[in-house]
Amino acid sequence: MRETDVKPAPPGGEEVDAEADHDVDTDGGADADTAADADGAGDADTSADADTAADAGAPKVVVVGGGVAGLTAGIFTARAGMDTVVLDHGESILRRNSHLENMPGFPAGVNSRLFLDLLAEQARRSGCLFEQGLVTNLQTLGDGAGEDTLEGVEDDESGGTGGGEETDTSGFQLRVEADEEYDLRADYVIVASWSDTDYLERIDGVGLTRRGSKTFVDVDDFGRTGCDGLYAAGRIAEKPHQTVVCAGHGAEVALTLVDDSPVPFYHDWVAPEGYFTERGHDVPPGVEEIDEEERRRRERESMEVMREAFAEPHPDQPTMHPSVVEKRRDGE
Ligand SMILES: Cc1cc2nc3c(=O)[nH]c(=O)nc-3n(C[C@H](O)[C@H](O)[C@H](O)COP(=O)(O)OP(=O)(O)OC[C@H]3O[C@@H](n4cnc5c(N)ncnc54)[C@H](O)[C@@H]3O)c2cc1C
Repeated sequence: MRETDVKPAPPGGEEVDAEADHDVDTDGGADADTAADADGAGDADTSADADTAADAGAPKVVVVGGGVAGLTAGIFTARAGMDTVVLDHGESILRRNSHLENMPGFPAGVNSRLFLDLLAEQARRSGCLFEQGLVTNLQTLGDGAGEDTLEGVEDDESGGTGGGEETDTSGFQLRVEADEEYDLRADYVIVASWSDTDYLERIDGVGLTRRGSKTFVDVDDFGRTGCDGLYAAGRIAEKPHQTVVCAGHGAEVALTLVDDSPVPFYHDWVAPEGYFTERGHDVPPGVEEIDEEERRRRERESMEVMREAFAEPHPDQPTMHPSVVEKRRDGE
């Protein structure tokens, strides 16, 4: 097991002086094909696509949970150039909300189902691949992995995005229950699977805290668990039960992961042409400079996407709490 002490270092990477005058625009409203390989974005649910599109050299991140925190985390790891798969089963608890009124940037609120659709579309455009399935087990590979070897499922048998022929000696293997059971391999895993922690029970170094019927994953201030390479984000990391907080935590945890990885990174920024270069700096890794024509093009595209999204009311109803559904069905 690659168990380590929880590291206290903050995300953000080594300081590059390119930011020196502090008049930075933290907007980050970039379009898809910037830092990430957006063209590699496959259709949802296709393991084969995930395999084909994988950038062989990029570290592989699997995000467990395609809700608020998981999708946001995926946006940041994918935009940093990491090969990112978002694995989801079921639906975000936010789909139970009636109208989302405290998400910054939506003065009259927003339909939470629409918000989730837009978040998923942003993750797709950022380069995330999607897989459906319930993660039922997670094991570390490498030292000591033999003790935990999964039985009955051959590595990558049903088209998972794992390495295939060669035996992996580090990272993680996730067992996924779908139409057919399969395994995925990852260099890094972000757990954002509120409220399921069952698949973490056998990982050395991962602390779980039970409070009543809920179980939370123990993390440091930046979302690291006690197991190297394994992170937790959102409500499952005991963040307040609010969309903006869980989204923000997903972003922070993803940036911590990038910072812990060998991927060169400064900030995920899109800046006007010359912002760095006309001050004699190289454009830092993760940052993009775009000219006025490209800025206008992206603005137009963003307007089009949002116009279409907001053209009609969302067709889906809020998901009712299962116990209320049952009660109503029983006519109580
Ligand atoms: C009725 C209701 C109303 C709400 N209203 C508001 C509001 O007005 N404002 C606000 O800010 N917040 C609201 N919230 C809270 C908000 O929905 C949550 O705080 C937020 O969704 C948490 O994000 P998360 O990513 O941690 O979890 P989620 O968004 O729930 O995402 C977790 C995802 O992980 C998946 N998953 C779980 N286990 C597995 C597994 N083993 N394998 C694969 N996938 C798995 C789940 O299916 C889900 O898609 C509301 C919640 C409820 C219930």
